[in-house]
Amino acid sequence: MIGIIFGPPGSGKGTQAGRIEKEFHLKHLSTGKILRDEVAMATPIGKQVGRKMAAGDLVPDDLIVDIVRRRLPEAESGSGVLLDGFPRTVAQARALDAMLAGEGHRVDFVIALDVPEAELVSRILHRAAIEGRADDTREAIEERMHEYRKLTEAVLDHYRKQGVRVEVVNGLGRPDEVFERVRNAIGLSSG
Ligand code: AMP
Repeated sequence: MIGIIFGPPGSGKGTQAGRIEKEFHLKHLSTGKILRDEVAMATPIGKQVGRKMAAGDLVPDDLIVDIVRRRLPEAESGSGVLLDGFPRTVAQARALDAMLAGEGHRVDFVIALDVPEAELVSRILHRAAIEGRADDTREAIEERMHEYRKLTEAVLDHYRKQGVRVEVVNGLGRPDEVFERVRNAIGLSSG
């Protein structure tokens, strides 16, 4: 099973992804986390992407596609993969589809968490106070939301056109309540 979870910054995507991973035995692959680790370890990739990430800009498609290409086979060896934060552009989606097709696989479901923007900003500023992420400043948050809105709809449409089930899930409420909706949505798509 190959799933994708989408959600704007602050939508609770990381929390829900962790729960989906446990419940459906999927390996969670977060490109944002991979990149943050590269930056923290000051690897060549980390040095290349640090400034873009801090500004809330996307990193280049070919770089992120290479990262996923290297990690996907190992992740796929289990019962499935939950991609988090990837694909963010139609070019990335096409590259992913081609990678999966090579293995006889395809995307099974897409979950998109939906949360009003005002709620998102307040959640992220709260997280910034606790975790101190470099891209949790107000300017970077606005840039990331702008990027998200601009690009994500196109990726959702790409999958809708292919007949992949895309479920938009209301992300307001307690994490448990949201997960109940997410679980139902995945159940519908895979069953
Ligand atoms: P996230 O944790 O998914 O919000 O990602 C944090 C940051 O990592 C983003 O703002 C981008 O700078 C970068 N990033 C993560 N995934 C991608 C991707 N698929 N394409 C381009 N940039 C990405």
